[in-house]
Amino acid sequence: MPCLYICGECGAEHEIKPKEPVKCKDCTYRIMYKKRTDKSIYIYLIILIHHFSNMI
Ligand SMILES: [Zn+2]
Repeated sequence: MPCLYICGECGAEHEIKPKEPVKCKDCTYRIMYKKRTDKSIYIYLIILIHHFSNMI
């Protein structure tokens, strides 16, 4: 069952199936938030974004 993800850049909602790459279909941004998320996962994603921004 696909999950709804919210784009971290443009806020668009997309269904992403388990084998699909996590990527916004509107703006191709690669950080997506799970819609049914809890705070610990949200914080984990923030840490991931921090790592990515250090790498770029
Ligand atoms: Zn987007």
